[in-house]
Amino acid sequence: MSPTTTDRPTLAILGAGGDLTERLLLPGLGTLLATDPDRDVTVIGSGRSGMDDGDWRDLVRNALRAGDRSPEQIDGIVDSTRFVELDVTDAEAFSDFIDGLDGPVVLYFALPPAVTAAACEGLRGRPLRDDVRFALEKPFGDDLASARRMNALLTDLVPEDRVYRVDHFLGEATVLNILGMRFANRIMEPVWTAEHVERIDVVADETLALEGRAGYYDSAGALVDMLQSHLLLVMALATMDAPARLDATELHDLIVTTLRATRVWDGDPLVSSRRGRYTAGRAGGRDVVSYADEDGVDPARGTETFAEVVLEIRNQRWAGVPVFLRSGKALGEDSMRVTVAFRPPRHVPGAFSGSVPPTRLTIGIAPDRVSLDLATNAADDRFTLESTRLSADLGDSELLPYGEVLGRILDGDRLLTVRGDVAEECWRILTPVIEAWEAGGVPLEEYEAGSDGPAVGDRRE
Ligand code: NDP
Repeated sequence: MSPTTTDRPTLAILGAGGDLTERLLLPGLGTLLATDPDRDVTVIGSGRSGMDDGDWRDLVRNALRAGDRSPEQIDGIVDSTRFVELDVTDAEAFSDFIDGLDGPVVLYFALPPAVTAAACEGLRGRPLRDDVRFALEKPFGDDLASARRMNALLTDLVPEDRVYRVDHFLGEATVLNILGMRFANRIMEPVWTAEHVERIDVVADETLALEGRAGYYDSAGALVDMLQSHLLLVMALATMDAPARLDATELHDLIVTTLRATRVWDGDPLVSSRRGRYTAGRAGGRDVVSYADEDGVDPARGTETFAEVVLEIRNQRWAGVPVFLRSGKALGEDSMRVTVAFRPPRHVPGAFSGSVPPTRLTIGIAPDRVSLDLATNAADDRFTLESTRLSADLGDSELLPYGEVLGRILDGDRLLTVRGDVAEECWRILTPVIEAWEAGGVPLEEYEAGSDGPAVGDRRE
């Protein structure tokens, strides 16, 4: 069958029966369509089994929100959607499936990474329509070598400008809030250097525990699930040089340049990284069983649910400033943020008593918020300094992060994608840590669910 091209793009979700599709992709799409009633898209779900057209239509209908869209428009999308039973590792069937779609086509690989790799491998050497874009989920590869192999394979199939590596932490709101704060305020850029900054923390703490995701998580762990992709990208946005324009090439070039300069602190993963695993407790208002007792977990793997790595960006702007990346599950509070702690003033007049509270700027991610901790004079004693927080909500986007990501992919806009070289750099930076952990060089600490993580070390806030 020869491919048909229309104005209406097709979003073909591979692995449509999975968690990502139900929990994140379809709700994201729902917000996108609700805020943009003129957007037209045909949604096709596919998977090996377990769903019929009716189940799939129900799933899509439930995800669609009224918003600015009329009931007729919603019916139109639901009526045009269907579920196709397909094993993507059957190269011939997969190739026929792609050819049978109305184009332009976005193939969204919501599949386990090994299945995505096998499906792409099966397409090698087969003719592929030229209006197809590939959207690939994280983790991109499972180590540096496999990420390189995957990039080489993709290059054989489609040009890089039709590959969209998704990292939903790079949702539009996050990217623009960080860049706006940094580059639209004259007071920021002059102090955004090692001369004035003492340390940077990029944090993604969550109260959620495993939530039934052992199949994926137990072989990934916090380091690969969070630091290797999300947090390194947020770090790069927070520390890169100023873009002259806000376009994809400019942004990706600046991100990769920053990542290329980044190394594990002191080159020593043994002292510059920590790992932990939660034990039973209460987090997020729920009783949590110990990670080792969660369904589907193999405790002998020693998978970490908490990871912290200290990095240094060895360039003119940042050399000598420790950058802490940290993420954990089943912790006492939800907090996703970048915090920049400034050095103390060179001189504080002696009349002020007590210590000088640190100046800190925090850019919060989901919820989007900014706060600045300043040293101010206490109301009851003007000679005593205390910390005051100025804060503002930046407002929630109407779109869920996956709505932002999908909108860009459907429009062929690459601003929020992870370029191939960026994905490789993220693996390169953390490879010494992964190797040290695999060799047993860094002990797996325990922390009670609902706590702040493993006992506070001398580097922690
Ligand atoms: P799931 O395991 O829940 O779903 C994967 C889906 O792929 C299942 O429906 C499975 O169906 C299908 N599948 C497996 N093998 C094949 C095959 N050969 N042909 C066709 N379909 C197949 O995984 P998730 O949805 O959680 O994750 C998908 C991807 O998204 C992963 O790369 C993950 O890292 C990424 N991701 C997930 C997030 C999440 O919160 N879930 C967040 C961010 C990224 P069946 O086995 O029934 O055939």
